[in-house]
Amino acid sequence: MRKAVFLDRDGTLIQNHHYGCDPESIQLLDGVAEGLGRLRRAGYLLIVVTNQSGIARGYFDEGQLAVMHRRMGEILHDQGAGVAAFYHCPHHPEGVVPRYSVECHCRKPQPGMIMRACSEFGIDPSSSWLIGDILDDIEAGKRAGCRGILLDLGTEGKPEIPDREPEYVAKSFLEAVDYLLNHAESADG
Ligand SMILES: [Mg+2]
Ligand SMILES: [Zn+2]
Repeated sequence: MRKAVFLDRDGTLIQNHHYGCDPESIQLLDGVAEGLGRLRRAGYLLIVVTNQSGIARGYFDEGQLAVMHRRMGEILHDQGAGVAAFYHCPHHPEGVVPRYSVECHCRKPQPGMIMRACSEFGIDPSSSWLIGDILDDIEAGKRAGCRGILLDLGTEGKPEIPDREPEYVAKSFLEAVDYLLNHAESADG
């Protein structure tokens, strides 16, 4: 079984643009390329899991998102931080595009994208992690059986339920990576 780090996209790896899908607007956040490179060298598969309800809302389509993710993959690859895959949830129950306007099992905080990646890549969730900037990310990771690190951007309040409780709250991406690499062996699951 392999181990992975599941990564939220917007606000975690790249600057959050409101329903943005423009390959020209991709800006990696501080420390991301270096941190991902370190995780890769430690043997983790890097897998992006991102809610993209802009598709259900009709702001962009699957093809445009694929172009953006291809570009983002190239940028990361060029910096020694290549990711293994991008998974996205295109759904939202209040969307305008009928086939995407449904309750699904992949929109975080649901664990569907992570569970699918685990089965497609042979990943052991109990030796895997999720890094994200909101508690919905943490909950998705924990429900799939992974350990969670929250990037504290000052937007999230206290977790209401244990499933939303991060193992660690980091002030920066590199601090999250430091914590992960220093505590990876202490998994109890
Ligand atoms: Mg985010
Ligand atoms: Zn979905």
